[in-house]
Parts: sequence; structure tokens; C-alpha cells
Amino acid sequence: MTLMYPDEVQDLPDGYRGMIEYDWDSCIKCSLCAMVCPADAMKMYVSKEESEREGKTVKRPGINYTRCIFCGFCVDICPTDSLRFTKVHDVAYYTYEEQIYPPVEFSKGVPKPFYFREPKRVRVILDERRGIKYEPVGES
Ligand code: SF4
Ligand code: SF4
Repeated sequence: MTLMYPDEVQDLPDGYRGMIEYDWDSCIKCSLCAMVCPADAMKMYVSKEESEREGKTVKRPGINYTRCIFCGFCVDICPTDSLRFTKVHDVAYYTYEEQIYPPVEFSKGVPKPFYFREPKRVRVILDERRGIKYEPVGES
């Protein structure tokens, strides 16, 4: 059965690997996330203001969603839980550049999906006879 997106959207399970949130304050700038990224999507950028203030090169992570494969390695390896998956995945962009988030933009949170009207939230039910079916959230 086909989901009538965007009038219906799937209620995603906890642990879903959507776009990633970055917490600026808890990040210890260790670079592990960038080192472990197999897709070259997470990179360390020089943080100009902090570098000037501290008198040494300070780098923070940024993400390129044109490359990210949502493997979760960066989230798993972060020692301070500064990276977290959200359930946001259905976001459209006009340009390639918009999909690249340097640290400051990355720390502002994930974009909100745009719907023309509020969609009906459904969850997936596996039916032995009919296969996958969708049930409105809130109904048993
Ligand atoms: S989820 Fe995987 S591919 Fe995406 S930025 Fe993190 S490590 Fe890289
Ligand atoms: S987000 Fe986590 S892994 Fe990446 S630099 Fe900051 S503390 Fe290190």
C-alpha cells in the first residue's frame, strides 16, 4: 500500500537516523566525528572568532548532507553526545550549497520540513495477509 505523502507522513520510530543536531556548547572539538566519517561528510572548520580569542587554531565540525550516508558513526563516537540524530529527513533544498552546514549553521538545528497542510501521521503495521499497511497514530 502506498503512503499518500505529503498528506500522510510516517510516524518514525525512536532511533531513526535523520538529520543530525549539533550542540555547540558541549562539543570539546576533538575531531573524532570528522575522522570517523566514511563519506567525508563531516569536516572540521576553523572557528575564526574562537581562534582569535584563544590565540590558537580552534576547529569545529560541520556537515555536508550531499555526502552523508546517515551511518551514525559520528553520533556513536562523539564522547560528549554533542551529535544526535533527529527524525527529520524530508527537507528540500534549492541549491547544492544550502545542503552544506558549517559549524555555526550546523549548531542552529535541523530545518523544519514544509507541508502545505498539516499531514496525517501514520504508523507502519505489518499485516500477515496484506503486507504493509498504515494506521493513523492514536488508533490501536
Ligand atoms: S552519519 Fe556517517 S556519513 Fe553522515 S556525517 Fe556522520 S559519519 Fe559521516
Ligand atoms: S561533535 Fe563530538 S566528536 Fe565531533 S568534535 Fe565535537 S565532541 Fe568531538
